[in-house]
Amino acid sequence: VYAQLALMVALGIGLSVATSVMVDDVQHTSTVLLRQDVPKLERFTAFESALLLHQAAIDNDFAYPAEHERFHAVADSTMRAMREQYRTVASEISSSYDSVTLQREFNRLVELDQILRVSLDTRRGSDSTRRQVATFNAYTGRIRELIDGGRRHLQSAVSNSGRLTMERTRWIANLVHLYAGFALLSALSLVYHVRARIRSERELAYLAAHDTMTKLPHRWSFYQEISKLDNVSPPHRRTKRHNDVLPARDAQAHLLLIEADRFDRMVAGIGHAGADEVVLEMALRANQAALANGGEVFRLGDSKFALVLESTPEAVQQLATRLQTSMGTPIAVGHHEIVLSTSMGSAALSRPDQRAIELVQEAEMALHLARQQGSSLVTYCTKLDDQLRDKLAMEAQLRHAIERGELELHYQPQKRMADGELIGFEALLRWHSATGMVSPAEFIPLAEESGLIGLIGDWVLGQASAQAAAWNRELDTPLTIAINISPRQFAQPRFVERVRHHLAQSGVNPRHIELEITEGVLMEQAALSRELLGDLRGLGLQLAIDDFGTGYSSLAYLKRFRVHKLKIDQTFVRQLKAGGEDAEIVKAVISLGHNLGFSVIAEGVELGGDDHPLAEQASLLRQWGCDEIQGYFYGRPMSATAAEAFIAAARPRRLLQA
Ligand code: C2E
Ligand code: MG
Ligand code: MG
Repeated sequence: VYAQLALMVALGIGLSVATSVMVDDVQHTSTVLLRQDVPKLERFTAFESALLLHQAAIDNDFAYPAEHERFHAVADSTMRAMREQYRTVASEISSSYDSVTLQREFNRLVELDQILRVSLDTRRGSDSTRRQVATFNAYTGRIRELIDGGRRHLQSAVSNSGRLTMERTRWIANLVHLYAGFALLSALSLVYHVRARIRSERELAYLAAHDTMTKLPHRWSFYQEISKLDNVSPPHRRTKRHNDVLPARDAQAHLLLIEADRFDRMVAGIGHAGADEVVLEMALRANQAALANGGEVFRLGDSKFALVLESTPEAVQQLATRLQTSMGTPIAVGHHEIVLSTSMGSAALSRPDQRAIELVQEAEMALHLARQQGSSLVTYCTKLDDQLRDKLAMEAQLRHAIERGELELHYQPQKRMADGELIGFEALLRWHSATGMVSPAEFIPLAEESGLIGLIGDWVLGQASAQAAAWNRELDTPLTIAINISPRQFAQPRFVERVRHHLAQSGVNPRHIELEITEGVLMEQAALSRELLGDLRGLGLQLAIDDFGTGYSSLAYLKRFRVHKLKIDQTFVRQLKAGGEDAEIVKAVISLGHNLGFSVIAEGVELGGDDHPLAEQASLLRQWGCDEIQGYFYGRPMSATAAEAFIAAARPRRLLQA
């Protein structure tokens, strides 16, 4: 385009230079023509006329003699006129060869004129006079020829300059046509380029505002769109409307955040390409829901979407429920069938002084709580703010819990099915906070979030190892203490080192310590987990997969994890009945575990035994070959002192022997 413009400018300059040169040329020639040649021609003609008049006067008098006086008067006057005209003509052609000849002929004529006039006066009719007249006429003829020659010369100059002018004008016209043609082509090409540019700029703008994979507007566009709500005063706050869906009269701007639960776990299970397919499907489903309700969907993160729409709280609630169901429809990815569970958080722009960014924070808060509580949709209300504040306060208290000695380990016994023997305990953390007992289910996730888990987990490891060492010193048949390891604790870089440290510090036999790691953690970072499990096994520890059956287990991975035990999650055990839904799962897990060379423990066994006809959990588990059980049926979690009494009751003889 620039080259074209430069060429056009250069051609324009060239054209104007050429035109002005040619115009100068034409001007010059026509000036010469008008100022010199044309007057010259006129003067030649005037001279010839005067010459002819004089000749006529002489010839007339010769043929028809007139009165003497009158003839001379006429001849003098024509002679005068002729001389006058001659002078002007002679001065103009003085430089050329012709002027010499003309002068000579004119002088001869003038001389002869004197003689002829005397002859006409004295010897009219004589032969000599006739000859003189003939000579006079011949001179006149010669002068006329010379005049003719000069005139022809001038005429050819005139026609030459005319031709030149014509030629130049034609050139100018041609150049102008050419330039106009070129300008037209350039204009067309400029239009083409400008349009292409506009198109590519539009494409760039689209790409800059949209997520390349899902083609949905992304986080940046979301903030742009949402901040527009701040530019208008409350009663007119409207979101962009799509699909001509008219909002209800009492509709408010709503923000609904949607996120897949445990997305990283899914990525670990089906890979990035598979996860991308799932995200695409999520985008499609969210977008369909948005279009049906006149809203717009944005992709905020991996599996996180925002739906902005104008609606009533009830309608948003219904929409969320429908969306939840639609998201839960299985997605086929390769050989896998993924059933998504999603968490949603919603907030409305309901207060007049509320800013758009607050709306986002409130929806985020609701989503956060939905994810934590495992509920599908949480709608923001001011109460949530309080909940979050409570959480922050609890976090602050937890920081001091270790120093203040508020943490304590309780121990829940585990029983071997084959002989009914006590085989060990699971160490379960208790927090006696200033406000009362706090459940580990509540504060362990909080400790994970705040990073306090490192400190707390370390304390548990130390405490439980020391307890295991102490009890086993007094027993001939050892007890195993199972210690829960939280996901983040497991992922800490110095985890194995810390375990080794506590083993050495307490002097416990590593075989008497069992680490419980949840299934999800192992699957999420399969490669790292395999390596870590190898290291821990190398230390001589026992390893168990906790809460088995609740995560996305990949059987291929499971085979490669070199653990000792599977711990069936209590959700499958609690409702366990012969012929029930969970029965099949539990039976399958037991046989799977055994086939892979693991022992199997069931937790959450509350009731059972042959003596209890309504609840037969324990007897069923024994029947199906489950190796061990743990639960209220056998023993509740208890303090260390109570546990010692439990041990004494379970193994009276051996303790005595010791
Ligand atoms: P978990 O490891 O699956 O522990 C089993 C939970 O089930 C314990 O709850 C236990 O009290 C409970 N339970 C045992 N038998 C029964 C039964 O028959 N019926 C019922 N309803 N419940 C039974 P608890 O002590 O509240 O612990 C909850 C979770 O907190 C644990 O689940 C574990 O994931 C975590 N946790 C506990 N202590 C620690 C710890 O020291 N470190 C870490 N990282 N996590 C811990
Ligand atoms: Mg456990
Ligand atoms: Mg468990």
